[in-house]
Amino acid sequence: MDTKCVFCQIARGEKPAEILYQDQSIIVFKDIHPHAPIHLLIAPKRHIRSLNELMEEDKGLISDMIFRARELAREQGISGSGYKVLFNAERGGGQVIFHLHLHLLGGW
Ligand code: AMP
Ligand code: ZN
Repeated sequence: MDTKCVFCQIARGEKPAEILYQDQSIIVFKDIHPHAPIHLLIAPKRHIRSLNELMEEDKGLISDMIFRARELAREQGISGSGYKVLFNAERGGGQVIFHLHLHLLGGW
């Protein structure tokens, strides 16, 4: 947990977000500056800086995030038309929020 991290604040309910799904370990909310008609962020509730900090024991978590992305694509009606799922890792990879998240983009 990181008190200053925006996505930790969203996960704790301290910062507003348009939340579409959450369970014990994952939260999904709309990207505040969407790059596609549908742009969702799938994040672990636990603070993990980036893919670099993932541990062996997080294999289940990452798998759950990817399956959740697929389920959300289905719910949003973009399974057939197509979508992208994307991790940006560290500054050179375009990461600006240093709390792991998977982008789901589609609806073009
Ligand atoms: P990344 O470049 O992979 O770190 O992506 C961070 C994403 O978080 C960007 O697409 C931002 O628009 C989005 N973002 C930043 N702050 C918020 C927020 N408070 N609520 C929702 N999305 C956010
Ligand atoms: Zn965090």
